[in-house]
Amino acid sequence: MSDPNNVGSDPVSEMAGLAIMNWQRLEANVQRVLERISEAARRSNRKPEEITLVAVTKRHPVEWVRALVDCGVKVLGENYPQELWSKAEELADMPVTWHHIGHLQGNKAKRTLPLVRMFHGVDSLKLLLSLDELASSLDLKDPPAVCLQVNTSAEASKHGWTAESLLSDADAIVDVKRIPVVGLMTMAPLGAEGEAARPYFGQLRELRDRFSETINRSLPELSMGMTSDFEAAIAEGATLVRVGSALFEGVGT
Ligand SMILES: *Cc1c(COP(=O)(O)O)cnc(C)c1O
Repeated sequence: MSDPNNVGSDPVSEMAGLAIMNWQRLEANVQRVLERISEAARRSNRKPEEITLVAVTKRHPVEWVRALVDCGVKVLGENYPQELWSKAEELADMPVTWHHIGHLQGNKAKRTLPLVRMFHGVDSLKLLLSLDELASSLDLKDPPAVCLQVNTSAEASKHGWTAESLLSDADAIVDVKRIPVVGLMTMAPLGAEGEAARPYFGQLRELRDRFSETINRSLPELSMGMTSDFEAAIAEGATLVRVGSALFEGVGT
């Protein structure tokens, strides 16, 4: 167990001025999020085990992340590659897997690829093809899976395929041999919280069903739902929820 009074001299925590970590609060947050996932699953006649909590640790010090793992969290998500690299190295002794979430710059892919089990934000055919090539040149035996990011809200600020461009890229996506494409990912538009986000998640599920039929492959994963809307996402079939704030709320005060 991590000592709550010892956050060490971690540069991230010093930078953020976070000297104290409320370990009990962290543990209670984890329990509460897991309960909310279970309750949301049951309301939709789903099994809680069908849903994986991806704990988003971005901008939080590595000692907090260590404590989170001590609380039983097994899958961690980061969207800044440098942060992922250093945390993965520092926590190499811990029983966790890393996922990359969000937009990935092509020049960060090579170093990130061997460290993660999934990319949630593959948002262009170009990036998908370059990951496939890298997996081949690095000769990865068991390369990470990907979820293709879809811009369901069609916001200009968001990355990803549209429903139309995904279907028109179908042949090229099927040609990807090394990297397993296992599902789709989306984010609800800013301001659409809770139930208001639900239509976007429903759209992603429908698109997944249609695309899966088009390429004649199963796409079991739906990565959707964050702190403000994960229950709505579960109601629409999310298999991976990416939750950050709800886990760390009050932990630094
Ligand atoms: C930060 C982030 C999350 C987690 O968001 P919270 O609102 O803190 O739960 C999920 N997905 C992506 C892509 C993110 O960047």
